[in-house]
Amino acid sequence: MITRPRNEGLRNDTDAFWLPFTPMRVFQHDPLIFTGAEGMHYIGADGRRVLDSAAGLWCVNAGHGHPHIVEAIRTAAGRLDFVSSFKMTHPDALAYARRLRAFAPAGLDYVFFVNSGSEAVDTALKIARGYHHARGDGARTKLIGRAKGYHGMGFGGLSVSGIGRYKRGFGPLLADTAHLSLPYKPETMAFSQGQPADGGSLADELETLLQVQDPATVAAVIVEPVVGSGGVYPPPRGYLEGLRAICDRHGILLIFDEVVTGFGRLGAPFAAQAFGVTPDILTCAKGMTNGAVPMGGVIVGNHVYDAFMSGPPETIELFHGYTYSAHPLACAAGMAVLDIFENSGLAEQAARTAPLWETRLLSVKGRPHVADIRTIGLLGVVELDPRPGAPGARGAACAQFCLDQGVLVRASGDLIVLSPPLVISTEQIGLIVATIEQALENID
Ligand code: PMP
Repeated sequence: MITRPRNEGLRNDTDAFWLPFTPMRVFQHDPLIFTGAEGMHYIGADGRRVLDSAAGLWCVNAGHGHPHIVEAIRTAAGRLDFVSSFKMTHPDALAYARRLRAFAPAGLDYVFFVNSGSEAVDTALKIARGYHHARGDGARTKLIGRAKGYHGMGFGGLSVSGIGRYKRGFGPLLADTAHLSLPYKPETMAFSQGQPADGGSLADELETLLQVQDPATVAAVIVEPVVGSGGVYPPPRGYLEGLRAICDRHGILLIFDEVVTGFGRLGAPFAAQAFGVTPDILTCAKGMTNGAVPMGGVIVGNHVYDAFMSGPPETIELFHGYTYSAHPLACAAGMAVLDIFENSGLAEQAARTAPLWETRLLSVKGRPHVADIRTIGLLGVVELDPRPGAPGARGAACAQFCLDQGVLVRASGDLIVLSPPLVISTEQIGLIVATIEQALENID
């Protein structure tokens, strides 16, 4: 049965909107348009439902249209539309910051609100440099990222990211960046479930890089605890601990970009708790408001905040921020999300579902075109061998096939990237996996 929503009536409406990361001419030919969403599904203009295996874009962790979140936003909108957060605020911002502090790893006690993951990353990088400046160590400006890292599309995040094709055509990025390689050895790590066992020593590369860069010039190391957009690469056991120890040894701040891994995706509030490694600065967005209102956050350690507060007079005020920081609607949505974590145990639910998700996904091994599968928590990727001479074609064909069967899966090149809402059922896991298997048997 073909269940892809049909949008013929809306095709002519696509002429004014330039979509992100979208080949416009292809899109205009066959636009994908959803008019509603509920629980695990998107709904098309014709009323057909499509199972969402991507939680929107890694963000709708509690499922679409959660009534508690909808109601919180509705109430907030009727109470206070907007207040600047420059030298003033509102009660929900204060309450939400305190609740986030309790949700975050111990020792990360101060929240700076922004409106997206990109803003969170650029803010975190600026805070890292500002921290050293406030301590009289302003020579520390270098920022170290990692191959395959995705840190949003601001110039800062792009500079530390490790995906070359996103950088081309945009001119010079931040000077003073360096990159670690991906801690991934296909010989021993392919098709592994959760953290690969072997590879903690791969963190030692940071020590080698620092000897080249001069550790006294490095401000921060930024990594996604699990590489997300770059292809879902869980960290080998011991790797994050290794980075933590080396950063400590050299007075370098460690930043975890938890825009994807935060808010339950790994069965804990953040990856930091799941892996037992606490960064100095943590960025989040996406699941924070369940995707319902744009919001991001930078949660910093006491020592980071204190350095600004006890630094020279110009650092007492952080000359950085955004008009919509701590927007009342976003704070209300954020608190409703934390209610769901507290009252419904959303992270625990993800932790219970994860083993089944991981094993079912790994069972796709052996199907045509499958080069690798990596999965941890409710994250996963099926990596396909590219069609000779046509990179990305198999990924696109697979996504198209699944959509026609009523399952939305996201293809990024030849990667089938999966991050379902955390409320996914056993049957829905089975349906997603079976549809991908069917696609692999039928494309080409
Ligand atoms: N960091 C990471 C790890 C991300 O995955 C993303 C978005 N996918 C971002 C930052 C950027 O977030 P946004 O698109 O909200 O700016």
